[in-house]
Amino acid sequence: MGRHIGPVCRLCRREGLKLFLKGTRCDTPKCAVDRREGVPGMHQFRRSKASEYSIRLREKQKVKRYYGIFERQFRKYFEMASRRPGNTGDALMALLERRLDNVVTRLGFATSRAQARQMITHGHITVNGRKLDIPSYLVRPGDEVKVKDREHSRKLAATHLEAEGMPPVPDWLDRVSTDPPEGRVSRLPATQDISLPVTPQLIVELLSR
Ligand code: SF4
Repeated sequence: MGRHIGPVCRLCRREGLKLFLKGTRCDTPKCAVDRREGVPGMHQFRRSKASEYSIRLREKQKVKRYYGIFERQFRKYFEMASRRPGNTGDALMALLERRLDNVVTRLGFATSRAQARQMITHGHITVNGRKLDIPSYLVRPGDEVKVKDREHSRKLAATHLEAEGMPPVPDWLDRVSTDPPEGRVSRLPATQDISLPVTPQLIVELLSR
């Protein structure tokens, strides 16, 4: 009998890709995607030849799931990216990467974007010294992202940092301190800072029709 796979992991299985939606579990052998790699035979993924449209659509779904955002919001980011100079796909990914919930996760103060969103909406996070409860806030260079200076908030972040084993921080962010948990945005994220293996150009082609 096959092992039970939760709805979150099922999204990764469907994409055939680790979307890192479950925090620490994603880096363990318990990950449903990693487990499948060793499974031979009839239960392996089988996918009929995908159309160009479905390939592009899947790239979009991948990104939406990774950052945990809905279609309407995603379209807004795309419109914003289209108005920016340069490559629209890169601008789109940079915008998503700048979301506060992503930043809190990448600093290691939360183990997943869903958890980061909860911490933000529950008032555990401050930006430039002020409580900010909007997960979609787009950080700017120089922003100081901190866990609120109260015992419960600090303990929460410390637990997550410990659970993640102090994960490495991308170049565009700086984890100033872990106790108290503080981070800083050093610069805007560039294409090479995006860790999700995705081809943004396919999304641009899909949405530009
Ligand atoms: Fe589940 Fe994380 Fe593995 Fe995805 S990457 S299948 S969310 S454990």
